[in-house]
Amino acid sequence: MTTYLRPRDLDEGLHARAEHADWTVLAGGTDLLVNANHRAAPVGMIDLWRLADLCFVRVEKTSVAIGAGTTWTEVERHPAIRAKLAPLALAAREIGALQIQARGTLGGNVGTSSPVGDSLPALLALDAELEVASVRGHRRVPYREWCTGYRTTHLAADELIIAAHVPVPDATTRTSWRKVGTRRAQSISKVMGAAAITLDGDVVVSARVALGAIANRPIRITAVEDAVRGQRLGVAGDAARAALRGAIQPIDDVRSTATYRREVAENLVARFFSVS
Ligand SMILES: Cc1cc2nc3c(=O)[nH]c(=O)nc-3n(C[C@H](O)[C@H](O)[C@H](O)COP(=O)(O)OP(=O)(O)OC[C@H]3O[C@@H](n4cnc5c(N)ncnc54)[C@H](O)[C@@H]3O)c2cc1C
Repeated sequence: MTTYLRPRDLDEGLHARAEHADWTVLAGGTDLLVNANHRAAPVGMIDLWRLADLCFVRVEKTSVAIGAGTTWTEVERHPAIRAKLAPLALAAREIGALQIQARGTLGGNVGTSSPVGDSLPALLALDAELEVASVRGHRRVPYREWCTGYRTTHLAADELIIAAHVPVPDATTRTSWRKVGTRRAQSISKVMGAAAITLDGDVVVSARVALGAIANRPIRITAVEDAVRGQRLGVAGDAARAALRGAIQPIDDVRSTATYRREVAENLVARFFSVS
């Protein structure tokens, strides 16, 4: 039998986590319940669904804080996220279909940390930080350091994910996000990626480029970022494509071949640096 606990606030949730590090943390359940019938029932469950302390979007001076319990529907509909953090709003819109978006949360995507988690390249390109907490206190982890391997992260056994803090790109930075799957809705990515490109006119000053579904975790492609610096848009696309070629060893699995992923990833990254 599974013991079920629904904390009334974050403090109660953190104490429960500290006392029961072996219990399962549940948010929307859209990842957890997929395999529930094939796994042993958990000893206990800490249900964070709609916990008010985790359900918020706060627009701050230079960043937006998005609570871990915020659903993809809420992310996609939030005016500040749509206006200032387009890659996240675009990713939210293509996670599963409407039912999944209404239930799946940012904390769940980051907690599962699948290589095909659609929000994860957006968090990398936007240089987000994650806030996590335990009874020992709160700490922040740059998202680029969060993933340690295939579905493993820096989250300690007694911690909960609290929020993503996402810096708002300035007016000279253009952002993009794109997913390629078998169809538009309810499709797991074959390749997806995001970019934040800072421009001086049409010259690339700096860029953050991230891809998902290519490696065992979402990755920044620093070879591309280096290759495009100082290049004009358009030419930068060719430089990005060439740099990517030697920088990745795409995975080969049931969803796609390595060859297909490589070709799509090159097109996708080149397109980030196109003229319009
Ligand atoms: C039909 C279907 C289609 C899908 N399509 C997509 C897709 O296109 N793109 C995509 O990226 N994903 C997709 N998913 C996966 C899933 O919907 C997302 O990853 C979603 O964001 C998970 O959120 P959740 O709240 O449901 O997580 P849950 O299933 O509740 O939890 C997932 C993991 O995160 C942990 N966790 C959750 N919140 C916290 C917290 N605050 N602190 C610590 N740990 C936490 C849980 O313990 C668990 O390990 C799909 C799932 C289904 C069933």
